Amino acid sequence: MKSRRKSKKRSRSKRSQSNTKSIESVVVVGSGPAAYTACIYLGRANLKPLMLEGIPMNSTSPGGLLMTTHVVENFPGFSKGVEGKDLISEMKEQASRAGTRIRSEWVDKITRSTSGLFVLHIGKKTIKAKSVIVATGSVPNKLDVPGFDEFWYKGVSTCAVCDGSLPMFRNQPLAVVGGGDSACEEALYLANLASKVYLIHRRDVLRASKVLQDRVLSHPKITVLWNQEVEEIKGTKTVESIRLSNRKGELAVKGVFVAIGHKPGSQLVKDLVKCDSEGYIEVNDRQETSVSGLFAAGDVHDREFRQAITAAGSGEKAGISCERWLATL
Ligand code: NAP
Repeated sequence: MKSRRKSKKRSRSKRSQSNTKSIESVVVVGSGPAAYTACIYLGRANLKPLMLEGIPMNSTSPGGLLMTTHVVENFPGFSKGVEGKDLISEMKEQASRAGTRIRSEWVDKITRSTSGLFVLHIGKKTIKAKSVIVATGSVPNKLDVPGFDEFWYKGVSTCAVCDGSLPMFRNQPLAVVGGGDSACEEALYLANLASKVYLIHRRDVLRASKVLQDRVLSHPKITVLWNQEVEEIKGTKTVESIRLSNRKGELAVKGVFVAIGHKPGSQLVKDLVKCDSEGYIEVNDRQETSVSGLFAAGDVHDREFRQAITAAGSGEKAGISCERWLATL
């Protein structure tokens, strides 16, 4: 009798041990500079963070937007610039060395259990965690015109670095849409591969930084078409031309690269935390969201700066704030 009670007790304690074991202290969702920096700090604090890095999808991939950035020239410590993917690969190595466990998983939704734990929903699976850092970045905006969806991957792209070197674009006339840093970078990148690049901007002044504007405006292969909006993308099997708002006839191009800003990847927490009207997660100075124990870092909350270095800085703040929060439990 005594031994049966003992074994019951043992199995109960085993079960509770395994339950506690299956609860993560902190899960970091995302895999850009904000997520890796948070993991480096959490790892060094011996919290063994679990990173869910995402899976390759239409407009996102593990590593985030830096994976689609050619050369990063403004990240301190790299006087000659650094390839976006090399920077991410170094961050990944550093986070792993600090004790981060990295899994390729896509989190659909985060909810809260009655006991206050966070529940991360991954298809039919769930992961429970005491705290979460959301660093899911942002995804490129699409152009809402006829032909965009029809010619997606058939001449329409939102990433020149990913697709620009495809044979279908080489030595062909191409269009880039937008007037910000991304559009200028895309135009400059494509100018090395294409016969001609038209930068199509809806206003008469570029939004991009002065240094990029100067490079674009002085590039012999780039022509800026001011005050123009794309009204239609046309073709047969692939893109052949575009129709513009203030130009007669069609402009012959074999590719359309759209760089018109981004949408924050806050879908997974939209019913849980406070977001602004465009979906950016609201945070305070310590990267705390409206829900205690849930932090946000990087482009998913930053509508203004959106640089690799600011993302890394906010990841550091989220990591330290989370460590301090866990210490209060
Ligand atoms: P952005 O600065 O928001 O620029 C978006 C551009 O697209 C604007 O010129 C905007 O026109 C235009 N646009 C928006 N919606 C449009 C529509 N429906 N049709 C036509 N044009 C449209 O976005 P971004 O260039 O992706 O840059 C985002 C952030 O990342 C910025 O802070 C930027 O500095 C940063 N970034 C930095 C670097 C770098 O430093 N190397 C590289 C890339 C990005 P309007 O100007 O008329 O609004």
